[in-house]
Amino acid sequence: MNGQMMQQPLLISSLLRHAERHHGTQEVVSRRVEGDIHRYTYADLASRSRKLAKALAGLGMAPGVRVGTIAWNTYRHLELYYAVSGSGAVLHTLNPRLHPDQLVWIADHAEDEVLCFDKTFLPLVEQVAERLKTVRKFVLMVDKEHMPTVPKIPGLICYEDLIAGEPTDRFEWPEFDEQTASSLCYTSGTTGNPKGVLYSHRSTVLHTFASALPDALNLSARDAVLPVVPMFHVNAWGLPYSACMVGAKLVFPGPGLDGKSLHELFEAEGVTVSAGVPTVWQGLLAHVQGNGLRFSTMRRTIIGGSACPPAMMSTFEDTYGVQVIHAWGMTELSPIGTVGILKGHQLDLPVEQRRSIQAKQGRGVFGIDMKIVGEDGAELPWDGKASGELLVRGHWVVEQYIKGDKSPLVNGWFPTGDVATIDADGFMNITDRAKDVIKSGGEWIGSIDIENIAMAHPAVAMAACIAAKHPKWDERPLLVVVKKPNVEVSKEDLLAFFNGRIAKWWTPDDVVFVDAIPLGATGKMLKNRLREQFQDHLLT
Ligand code: ADP
Repeated sequence: MNGQMMQQPLLISSLLRHAERHHGTQEVVSRRVEGDIHRYTYADLASRSRKLAKALAGLGMAPGVRVGTIAWNTYRHLELYYAVSGSGAVLHTLNPRLHPDQLVWIADHAEDEVLCFDKTFLPLVEQVAERLKTVRKFVLMVDKEHMPTVPKIPGLICYEDLIAGEPTDRFEWPEFDEQTASSLCYTSGTTGNPKGVLYSHRSTVLHTFASALPDALNLSARDAVLPVVPMFHVNAWGLPYSACMVGAKLVFPGPGLDGKSLHELFEAEGVTVSAGVPTVWQGLLAHVQGNGLRFSTMRRTIIGGSACPPAMMSTFEDTYGVQVIHAWGMTELSPIGTVGILKGHQLDLPVEQRRSIQAKQGRGVFGIDMKIVGEDGAELPWDGKASGELLVRGHWVVEQYIKGDKSPLVNGWFPTGDVATIDADGFMNITDRAKDVIKSGGEWIGSIDIENIAMAHPAVAMAACIAAKHPKWDERPLLVVVKKPNVEVSKEDLLAFFNGRIAKWWTPDDVVFVDAIPLGATGKMLKNRLREQFQDHLLT
């Protein structure tokens, strides 16, 4: 017997409709590419998104058509999020930090037909426009005043003209099957060729519900949310959707991602919660510490994308009173998988113990199940010690990559490529990526633990631990370090810092000092590049 409740498809347009009707006066504030601060409300966002949907339909945007964006976090990008997906077309967010050849490859692979981009990226798009086989329309996200006088791209369209060309916002978001594709993100390719993950309306709305929960990102109508994580990196971890769901104020940093611009915006707009990868917070903390500043309204920051060093966590919490929410996810998971919020019985533990739990990647949110398996594929116990490959399944986990020939799933589970432990409370701890694992004399050494210790040394700005070839042990850990400016530290001092903090045989064999560690398009350390450079270091 079926239940007798309404069947309403889970559609992205419903998030915008809710924000307009229930939080119509809530603000959306953006630092624009033009340099000024723009502010309007959810009611304005909804109205302009409807006009944009009509205008894009006029350019040939039909259900299923891929519309690419190369854009910062601003209100215009948000309008595209809703106008494109809300119409049944597919929003494909491209990462401008990728190499132009890779961008062309991805846009071709996705068969993008319309490309909307910020003025910052005009030179980039001009450079590649002729090579984009499927793109028919190019839209520059500016007003008439900021259009180039002689565009190099034939038929370049002005975004604000498009919207102004629609006299009314009278438009009903279409209803369709919730399984319809809504948006497309490619993995950043730190571990191989980029692969396209095609989200659905259903997976996105369910991810939005779960991500807003108190033990996840804990968002509400009382928050002012500033996503530092780009809208071109796994949909800014879903914040453009969850903010509308809960009616939070949205504050967009545009291209201003340096510590000074961010801190100014946090203070001016009363930001209560933010989100980004650890490398972004390094810049912000350096600015705040260097200038004796404080955070007067910031309460929480969500850190993920790569491991949050415990030293960063204690600076935020002890010095500035900002709670760190450590989260783990992947493009293939829309992206949220686990979030590190303590359980009730852990709240009264001594601070050291609490911190070591918070440094883990967290508990699975409802909608995601996980397990760790050994080399034989058998499930390992949740004892916080056994370490194996992490597999997940759930409502917003990829089943098949776009144009992929075979499913990546193993007996219905998605293998993440991460190596982890899970403790009795369900806290998952990533010890490594399968590709980064250091295997010394047949035993695994966790590079993340070693990096976390190195990052706690006052002279270390950034540290990567990689596997270097070794004549006796096959591989041994090698630490690659960027020093903080104007601070000196010797190899010997750094290695001595590991004494008592880690098993003796996990201590790196050597330290190499470098000026910079290469970062990928999403701000993660490219350890494969370091491996290419230094893998023979211990042999010489
Ligand atoms: P890519 O795999 O191309 O880097 P993603 O952005 O999807 O693209 O990255 C997902 C990976 O990032 C995860 O599989 C994991 O290795 C790493 N990661 C994400 N969050 C964390 C975290 N909090 N701690 C450690 N690693 C993380």
